[in-house]
Amino acid sequence: MTEKNPYLAERLQDFGTTIFAEMSALAVRTDSINLGQGFPDTDGPNQVAEAAIRAIRDGHNQYPPGLGIESLRIAVSEHQKRFYGIEVDPETEVLITAGASEALAASLIALVEPGQEVITFEPYFDVYAAAIAMAGGKRRVVTLKTPDYSFDYEELVSKVNSNTRLILLNSPHNPTGKVFDHQELSQIAKLAVERDLLVITDEVYEHLVFDGLSHIPISTLPDMSERTLTISSAAKTFGFTGWKIGWAHGPSELLSAVRIAKQFLTYVNGAPFQHAIAEALKLDENYYMGLALDMAKKRDILCEGLEKAGFEVFRPSGTYYATVDIRPLGDEDGIEFCWDLPNRCGVVAVPNEVFYDNKNIGKPLVRFAYCKKPEVLDHAVEKLLSLKAQK
Ligand code: PMP
Repeated sequence: MTEKNPYLAERLQDFGTTIFAEMSALAVRTDSINLGQGFPDTDGPNQVAEAAIRAIRDGHNQYPPGLGIESLRIAVSEHQKRFYGIEVDPETEVLITAGASEALAASLIALVEPGQEVITFEPYFDVYAAAIAMAGGKRRVVTLKTPDYSFDYEELVSKVNSNTRLILLNSPHNPTGKVFDHQELSQIAKLAVERDLLVITDEVYEHLVFDGLSHIPISTLPDMSERTLTISSAAKTFGFTGWKIGWAHGPSELLSAVRIAKQFLTYVNGAPFQHAIAEALKLDENYYMGLALDMAKKRDILCEGLEKAGFEVFRPSGTYYATVDIRPLGDEDGIEFCWDLPNRCGVVAVPNEVFYDNKNIGKPLVRFAYCKKPEVLDHAVEKLLSLKAQK
């Protein structure tokens, strides 16, 4: 798929344009409904937007401090205490980043020696593979298996060797919508402690968990806080994906290693948006509960529609995304299916194969995003229903 670019360093030769950019461009070109990339089609709370405008007018427009502004670091620390009982020192244990993406890249670059191995679960968010490669690390994957996206603990154990540096976890998980439960997290934690591994945990969907389930930060498990770097961001929690305000927290020495890499990537970003997100994090329970309830309703609209359209749907417990198996419709290859979907019915989705090392497992799987207005989802479902008639 990826053409060789003679200028590109060898360690990045496996990477081309991200599938999200390709599919969003396809949606624009074909005037299709874009259920590919995970961004909401409505803005976050007005009071948060107003706070950003106020911050610009108040002159918060120069480089903020390298760690991020104090009020945002305090807000992150209070958020972790309020929702999970986690104690975080805003002076030494929190770092504000250019989205979770930069936190991921900076931590992998800071913590992984070239040649060391990083274990993650497939399907994986594509940034993981690229950031591990930029760090010169080697990716080892454990497969999350449909229909419930469980994993085999023995497989996880078998991936650890003397060269393993860390486990990169994502819960709630993109693209599957899986929310790792206490037992699964305990298994991962036990292994990390026994084999003295670090854990980086990407929790950007922490407030998008449905059906009465809870998000459990792995750092709250016994003996984990000292070896865990927790990453999150304002993008999905507040619906401002373009602001790129993220953060990492962890024990001070671990965090200061990440800070050293981060300061030479962007140094800092988004001064006025940092002020706005400091206010956003203090929103009350109603906001956070409303966010999850609203997203669960959207999940229901899309999943019911996808089922009616004839797909096998792996109903997600969290996030913005639902994965389907396209084989009941007589299709086999998700990449071909996604390129052809705009012609067939005017909808864009993303092929999950690109999130797998074991390509054959991901081949018939396709991801649809439901973080869209209900009427947009209804319209998309109407179009998808026409697929059956085409066979
Ligand atoms: N992690 C995961 C699992 C994601 O899905 C995304 C965004 N799609 C990110 C990180 C990136 O977050 P940000 O926009 O804050 O960089």
